[in-house]
Amino acid sequence: MPPNSPDSPPICEEKKPKSPPKYAELDENNNAEKDIPIVDVERQIQVVDDSTQQWLILRKDIKWLNVIAITLLHLMALYGLLTVSYSQHKRTMTWAFVIVIFTGFGVTGGAHRLWTHRSYKANARMRVLLMICFITAGMNNLYHWVRDHRVHHKYSETDADPHNSRRGFFFSHVGWLMLKKHPDVKAKGQSIDMSDIVNDPVVAFCDRHNLLLRILTTLFTIGVPVYCWNEDWYHSFAFQLFRYVYDLNATWSVNSLAHIYGDKPYNRKIDPVENRLVSWLTFGEGWHNYHHTFPWDYRAAEIGGGRFNLTARVIEWFAGLGWASDLREPSPALVRRTIAHRGDGTHPCVLRQSSSTAGGGSSVADDVLDNLESAIGKSHFF
Ligand SMILES: [Zn+2]
Ligand SMILES: [Zn+2]
Repeated sequence: MPPNSPDSPPICEEKKPKSPPKYAELDENNNAEKDIPIVDVERQIQVVDDSTQQWLILRKDIKWLNVIAITLLHLMALYGLLTVSYSQHKRTMTWAFVIVIFTGFGVTGGAHRLWTHRSYKANARMRVLLMICFITAGMNNLYHWVRDHRVHHKYSETDADPHNSRRGFFFSHVGWLMLKKHPDVKAKGQSIDMSDIVNDPVVAFCDRHNLLLRILTTLFTIGVPVYCWNEDWYHSFAFQLFRYVYDLNATWSVNSLAHIYGDKPYNRKIDPVENRLVSWLTFGEGWHNYHHTFPWDYRAAEIGGGRFNLTARVIEWFAGLGWASDLREPSPALVRRTIAHRGDGTHPCVLRQSSSTAGGGSSVADDVLDNLESAIGKSHFF
């Protein structure tokens, strides 16, 4: 375009500099290709630097052996799940389901509600049975399981919580097993009173021979289908592998799903929630907002309202046999007051009342509840 053509801009008109000042990327002829705001560039560099730094810090804490083992385990279970013929191995599949129920009870009724929380008492026969079920589940030894869970309750959602859900879903589900423990977990773990576990002869014996007992129970669960109804080793192994991976993920879901997705009818100030799916997966451990509010209740939930809780039913059955005793639970009045003053208003009994009652806790009422809870639970474990 000629300089003074009608369409050209007036010569005296100065081009205004663009604001804010920008860094111009130059091509090989030193012509500006495109403009990138300085602020954005700095922020991008900062983000890259931060994530690189975080990765370098994280990398030092990764337990590579656990990462490989857990990944391989899941890949093998998935391969088995997709390739086995279910219709030709119904008995073996049923056997795996039976083992899920027994091992599930060993974890929920044994490691959790009996040994960690002391929510009921069990005689020696029941403790041996629970221990066999727990060992068959293939978890850590009981001492570590109980200590980690007591720390989890006492320091929930802090750095001292082994599977702190504030660090994200993956970390609270399985990531925490792939990383070295946070120093606070170790420090607070040492302060936990474990004298009752150390002094339980059933626990002491089984923890001392944990590896041997795990091998024996694994051989038993795989061997029964082979020797009792001529199952081949591959399919027997495949179904038990899937059972094991299920047990692990069901247990982990309490730490992840039941701390992230759900309502808080009993205490809106804490992270654990009521999660129906987790309760189905774990035979009644998903009523987690209630459980963290009343950890010493053998039911780990309110009964009724369609809340699935197989573990509570089985404990009651053992109580009928005389094997379990001193089943502990809060009074209905205390639960009602807690719902009214601490809950988020999603409990069915609150929903039936006027909206003014929902979630409207007064500090005075909270104090009264604090005193009631500490008076009732002063001798319980967390
Ligand atoms: Zn929890
Ligand atoms: Zn618990």
